[in-house]
Amino acid sequence: MTTAIGVVITDHIAAARLKELQLAGKVLRYPGGDPDAMEGLEAIPDSELIDILAGQIASLARGNAGPDRVDSIEADSIDAIGVAVPGFVRSGVIEESPNLPQMKGTRLADQLTSALKERGIAAPVHIANDADAIAAGVAATRDRLDKLTRVWTIGNGIGYGRWPHAEGVWEGGHISVTLDPKERYCGCGGVGHLEGIMGYRAMRMRFLDLEPEEVFANAKTGDTRCRQFVDLWHRALAAATASFIHLAGPGRFYFTGKNVGFLELPLLRTHLETMVRMTPLQSFSLEILPPDDEIALIGAGVSALRAMRQESGSREGGSYMRSSMPSSRP
Ligand SMILES: [Zn+2]
Repeated sequence: MTTAIGVVITDHIAAARLKELQLAGKVLRYPGGDPDAMEGLEAIPDSELIDILAGQIASLARGNAGPDRVDSIEADSIDAIGVAVPGFVRSGVIEESPNLPQMKGTRLADQLTSALKERGIAAPVHIANDADAIAAGVAATRDRLDKLTRVWTIGNGIGYGRWPHAEGVWEGGHISVTLDPKERYCGCGGVGHLEGIMGYRAMRMRFLDLEPEEVFANAKTGDTRCRQFVDLWHRALAAATASFIHLAGPGRFYFTGKNVGFLELPLLRTHLETMVRMTPLQSFSLEILPPDDEIALIGAGVSALRAMRQESGSREGGSYMRSSMPSSRP
């Protein structure tokens, strides 16, 4: 029996206890209440955020998750703690996080480990990118842990996640999809990036007179300028997806995130088919996942358990993980 705690930081914090990779008990949320009414995390200093995380984890570890709890467990029986954060994460350090700028440079794994130690919790802490956590959660819940799983998250920024974990940067949202020098709306400042076309913030900068929701609604009623942009939006995603197909092969791509409602799969598929013409690469499939915290929570736990086993595997000669780990490349 493995018990992990999964935590996801997006525009809010969600945390839950996982038993055998299933949610066990109530999901804790910060701030509480309406999950759509939260835009305040970026205003909270990083030390305070770590304190909030440690408090939630400690509460879950002690089985204090409220009246819905299924049972109570001792804090020392937690095998691993996984935290999924938006941004570029390496070795437990958040190297870049445009949507949580105060976390840039934070040694989150170390600092959270110390904060938890003060609360009597010694389980290993693993930090994952949020899109990677969703890919891990999809793989775990669909019995695909041995397959390459790729996820696009469509929100304020555009995230690209993959399972299994592979060394690399994988900033798929910043892949160049156009050579047009006028395409410079990406939050990172790069020209021609996918996020500069698809990201929510980028769309607001492009259409100063319309909200992104209005752009997509007007396109449906025949407005030419909006229709052309919606087409560009889908072509950009098709181009980025085609690039990953040409690099790592076909397979299944999942699409999720707060703004996945803008996505029309048939339109995406039509563009993708014009871009991927080699027969062996045409066996790709596309699927929309409704955005929710559960898959990412499970994925954060899966990533943490996998990282923990990998570490103990390498200490013990690696025999356990080598036999049960999928290869890190397709
Ligand atoms: Zn960029």
